[in-house]
Amino acid sequence: MRDNIAAGNWKMNTTIAEGTALAAGLRKTHPKSCDKVILCVPYTHLSAVATELDGQGMISLAAQNLSSEESGAYTGEISARMLADTGAEYVLVGHSERRTLFNEDSSILSKKIDQALSHGLKVIYCLGEPLDIREANQHNAHVKAQLQDDLFHLSADQMQQVIVAYEPIWAIGTGKTATPDQAQEIHAYIRSIIQDKYDPNTASQTSILYGGSVKPANAKELFAKPDVDGGLVGGASLKVDSFSAICESFGS
Ligand code: PEP
Repeated sequence: MRDNIAAGNWKMNTTIAEGTALAAGLRKTHPKSCDKVILCVPYTHLSAVATELDGQGMISLAAQNLSSEESGAYTGEISARMLADTGAEYVLVGHSERRTLFNEDSSILSKKIDQALSHGLKVIYCLGEPLDIREANQHNAHVKAQLQDDLFHLSADQMQQVIVAYEPIWAIGTGKTATPDQAQEIHAYIRSIIQDKYDPNTASQTSILYGGSVKPANAKELFAKPDVDGGLVGGASLKVDSFSAICESFGS
């Protein structure tokens, strides 16, 4: 069956020393109830955190972004090949902050996904609707279009390398969380769309994480839902205590 996953997105926070200390603290906690912990760290921290994690245990490393291009004259960009060389195993693609603040649309996102997979990086693919779309009850159509435009050029085999993270934009960093029932409803819908495009096996193997103000106080209820396979956590992933509590929020 699919993995239960807690992924922490540090965004543009921490120095290398602070990030390495956070990773070291998490490494000592040995969460028992979750299958996989992923730390999505700033580019500058990747090698140091990889050394700290030492390729052992259940904690994996992710980058938060990558270039849509292979190599060459793209000053300031970081390629998939460079990321794979640091020890990163995953990369975030499609986070709403990249879509809205950096104008990343499906033509860019689909190229980023292809770059990642072609260099052996697994993808944490984020999608989700803004508040006006939710209020107009158009959220299912919105996420379906995102899947079709960004992701569904992949083969079923390639989909095995993808984790999906549903993150309603109105819940990211706002303190507002989707209710467990709202999360379950749209996660089940996303899984059904994956099944329609691919097959039941691909759909049931795909981990679908919820993101948007996940905290120790709400993680257990969210993760108890059958189609919520864990969380992508921003603010609450920046402290060992809160993130390790979230990592222990699976099961009864
Ligand atoms: C995120 O950045 O993906 C996120 C969900 O942030 P927060 O948990 O702070 O809402």
